[in-house]
Amino acid sequence: MPDRLFAGSTVLAVFAHPDDESLACGGTLARLADSGARVVLICASRGDRGPAGDPAPARPELGRARAQELRAAAAVLGVADLLILGHPDGNLRWAEVAPFHAELMIALRRFRPDAVLTFGDDGLYWHADHIGVHERTVTAIRSLGAGAPPLYCVTMPRGAMKAVVEAAHARGASPLASAFWGINPDAFGVSAEPPAFTVDVRPWIARKLAALRCHRTQFGPHNPLAWIDEDDARRWLGDEQFRRMEPAATSLLDGIGRPAHVD
Ligand SMILES: [Zn+2]
Repeated sequence: MPDRLFAGSTVLAVFAHPDDESLACGGTLARLADSGARVVLICASRGDRGPAGDPAPARPELGRARAQELRAAAAVLGVADLLILGHPDGNLRWAEVAPFHAELMIALRRFRPDAVLTFGDDGLYWHADHIGVHERTVTAIRSLGAGAPPLYCVTMPRGAMKAVVEAAHARGASPLASAFWGINPDAFGVSAEPPAFTVDVRPWIARKLAALRCHRTQFGPHNPLAWIDEDDARRWLGDEQFRRMEPAATSLLDGIGRPAHVD
């Protein structure tokens, strides 16, 4: 039976596209929700340009499908409030900067989170949209001055996605299943700043995998994540890693982490 250690606390997670939340820190979100935290998720776009879509035109029907997938994933993870913004997929770093900032400020005032999570400045794998969301979130938090909640950046463990590819091949995936949405698995986490702590989400791995698989439009037969089983996921996706920005006070998130061992 989960504890209710974080009842009364609120965590705000800010990401760019449907599926970022599950891949980057789905286990942590589920763990926090199970412990009683109110988890609020902001997704800046509907992901309507699709995987590695640049420069594909936006497709409204894909955006609708991905928003629906995100609602399903959020329900699996225990997200209490989901805000899907309609900023332009593929151009989140440069377009609609002021409106996006204003929306973040409204959310910070409305939910008064005890902790905020977003991408690190490496954008998981230098994805410009992810970096843009990091920048907007940092700007919004800094504008709150001394009263700002602690901000945590999530990064991918180096080598984890490569291991997922190998696990997928061991389970019969074709050689085509060697990349994620056209992204070389070695790119994940390669430029990330070292994490300060990791959160063990192995007991939540079934939820993380289920949430990932809600994003059906993103998980075709050539996506290695479609091939792995729970044991693989526990092994390679069972640690989620974070770094707290600024000399801010600690929060509930530090409390469930353990110091990272960086090689
Ligand atoms: Zn993304």
